[in-house]
Amino acid sequence: MRQSPSGAFERSAGAARLGDDFEGLAPLAKFDLLLRSRPFSNGYSGGMRLRRASGLIVVSLLSCTAWSQDGGRDKEYRAEMLGEVERQAREATTAIGEVLGAMSEAVARGDDAAYLEHIWTGDEVFATEQRAWAKDLTRHVPEAFELIASDIQETPVACGAMDGHAVRLANATLTARWRMAGGSDRKVSYLTKFVERDGRWLYAGRAWETLETDGIRVHYADGLEDTARRVLEDLPEIIEHVHEGFELPIDPQRVQEVKLYRSMRELQFAIYPSYVESLSGWNEPGESIKMLTSPRAGGRQIRALLAHEYGHVASFLLGDRIVEAPWWVLEGIAELAAEGYGMSWRATDRRMRQIARDGGIVEWERMADFHGVEPAVMRMAYLQGHHIMGYVSERFGRSARNAWLRAFARGKPLDDATREVFGMGFDALDRDWRASLTGDRNDSGEPPSGEPIPSADG
Ligand SMILES: [Zn+2]
Repeated sequence: MRQSPSGAFERSAGAARLGDDFEGLAPLAKFDLLLRSRPFSNGYSGGMRLRRASGLIVVSLLSCTAWSQDGGRDKEYRAEMLGEVERQAREATTAIGEVLGAMSEAVARGDDAAYLEHIWTGDEVFATEQRAWAKDLTRHVPEAFELIASDIQETPVACGAMDGHAVRLANATLTARWRMAGGSDRKVSYLTKFVERDGRWLYAGRAWETLETDGIRVHYADGLEDTARRVLEDLPEIIEHVHEGFELPIDPQRVQEVKLYRSMRELQFAIYPSYVESLSGWNEPGESIKMLTSPRAGGRQIRALLAHEYGHVASFLLGDRIVEAPWWVLEGIAELAAEGYGMSWRATDRRMRQIARDGGIVEWERMADFHGVEPAVMRMAYLQGHHIMGYVSERFGRSARNAWLRAFARGKPLDDATREVFGMGFDALDRDWRASLTGDRNDSGEPPSGEPIPSADG
C-alpha cells in the first residue's frame, strides 16, 4: 500500500529521540486513547543484538565444486583447479545470461508461470513478492522488456551451507529496461544474486546488506545502515503498540522483514513493472515492508512510515480475507496504526471537516478497489478511511471497531460486516458519519498546517 514521500512526511523532527513525538501528538490520537495503557510510555530499553547477515561477499572465484576438492599443494593440481574454476565461471556467466533471456521472454509474453520457473524459492518472503510481481503480468503486459546482467561473479560458499544442499552463488549487476503501453522507457540497475540448484541457475533478487535482531530482519541498500539500525530500534515498540490497539497477540516466532530502498524507481520496479505512482512505502500479505528512505531521513519520518506499513502487516494478520475489504478500509487501518507516530487524528479531523464543508467527500465505492481507483481520489482513501476509523472507534469503542475489522478478515462484505457488528447498514453508518462532520464541534487546537497529512499523489 502506498504513501506519498513528499506530502506526508516532509517535516523532519531533526534530532528527535525515541519518544519525543508522542508528547506532541499522542494525546489527541484516538487510537491511543482507546488503549488502556500506552505500551510505549516507559520508553524502549535496548539490548538488541545485531548480526551481520550479508549474504554475498566476493572473495574469490572458487566455486563450490573446486572448494570441495581442497588441496592445491601441488602446482599442477593448482593449475588444473584454476582452469576448472575459470571454466565454471564462464559456464555460470553463460547460464545466467540464458536465464535472464528466458525471464525476459516470459515477461514479454505475459507468462507469469514461465517467469516464476526461474525464481529461487528458498527465501519465502522474496518468493511471495515475486509471485505478486508476476501476477501483474496477467493484468498488464509490458510492450518491451529486457533483463541484462553484467559483471557476473561467482561467489564461494561452503558446500551444504543452504538447507543442507550444495549450492553455487553468483552476483551480478542487473539492468532492467522496460516500457508499458503508452508509457515511457524505464530502467533500473542494482546488484543481484543468483543461486544454482540442481544444475539450474535461479534469480534470487537483490543482493542486500542485512542487519537483524530476534524477530526483525532489515535488508538495506548501500548507505542506509544508520536507517536500518533505527528501524531495528523503533519497530519492536511500534509492533507492541499496534498489536495492543488491534487486540492482536504477538507471535514470538514471527520475523518481520523490512527492505530499505534509496531509489523510487527501484522500489516501483520491485512491486511490479506497471507500477508508476509515487510512493514511499508498500506492504502486501507475506511481503516485506518496503520503504523508500535516505541517509538523511529523520527519526519521526521513519517511524511514521514504519507504523503505517506495520498497520498493514497487522491487518493482514487479522485474517486472510482482509484483502477483500474495501481499499479505504485497509488504508484507514494503516493510518490509525500510525497515529502518534507522525499521523495526527486532529489534523485528519480538521481536514475532513473542511472537505465536508466544501462538498468534497468522495463516494466510498470510488475508493473500494486499489487497482481501479482514479488517481485524483487516491489520497482520499487515506483521509476518509482514517477518519471513519476514528469515528467508529469513538462511537462504538475499540473492541467493536476491531470486531468490524475481524468481520472483514473473515470475508464479510462491507454492509454485512457493518450490520453484524454495529447493528446498522453501511448507508446508515455513512449518513451518521457525514452528519458528524458537519455538526458543531469546538475545534480550537493549533492550526493544521504543521501536521503531516497523508496523501497519495506524491
Ligand atoms: Zn498504506
